[in-house]
Amino acid sequence: MYVDTLSDESLPHIVRYLAHAGIRGIRGYPNAVSLIAGFIKDTGAPVSPVDSIVTGGAELLIHQRSIISEVFGIQPHSKYSLYEAFEIACECENHEGMHISAEDLVIEVVDEEGIPVPPGVEGRIVVTNLHNFGMLFVRYDLGDNGSMLAGICSCGRTLPRLATLIGRNNMFLVTPGGKRIFYETLFLERLAGLGMRQYQIVQETRETVVMRLIPVTSVITSPDVKSILEREVIDMFRSKFGPELLLRIEFVDRIEPTEAGKHVFMLSKLPHD
Ligand SMILES: [Zn+2]
Repeated sequence: MYVDTLSDESLPHIVRYLAHAGIRGIRGYPNAVSLIAGFIKDTGAPVSPVDSIVTGGAELLIHQRSIISEVFGIQPHSKYSLYEAFEIACECENHEGMHISAEDLVIEVVDEEGIPVPPGVEGRIVVTNLHNFGMLFVRYDLGDNGSMLAGICSCGRTLPRLATLIGRNNMFLVTPGGKRIFYETLFLERLAGLGMRQYQIVQETRETVVMRLIPVTSVITSPDVKSILEREVIDMFRSKFGPELLLRIEFVDRIEPTEAGKHVFMLSKLPHD
């Protein structure tokens, strides 16, 4: 079964299908899989065991990993892949970072001058592919930030590893003072606890951020509840950023995916540095 939209109407069908079709593996964007997991948890729908869950196309955030493993009883494997370079790296069963497909490509994490940085230091990820003779990429900048991990994974495989957190260059909020804040360090995991099913943060200008929220229908019992929620989210945001950045909340019914069908958490309309 291939699903490209997740709406309130389609979620119950998807969940029923998962429970009854004897599915052994799930592969999808992390926010789509976590949305399904969240729906199962909220509604108490039955869930049948699966052997593996692989997420890719976007980073698997901590709160997504925890809801997926809570609901399905297994840890999802995060995979890092791109259209241009295919399968770059994937977590093994021990989930200690992602093993790079070093048989097929060379991954380097480099600084602004293109010099490789030591493990643990964040830099730009560049790839050189070894077997694509039709379109060779040499130190191709993927537009992502990440870091290498030192040492060997406890699974015993000696393939080099990337840390699981990969930051797209356009996935930082930038304060008027120039501070860059990666969205993973925001308070996003608390939004699920407030009854938010899906959300998206858009940095409109240096001074303004818009947060679109889709609450679980049963949460909004009155306009008062809405304004209390709005206040709470704004307070959380302000405790992180101070008064520098202005946050506007929009409660919406739908968050449009990108043209590629991805549901992105964060968009920045600022020009890239
Ligand atoms: Zn391993």
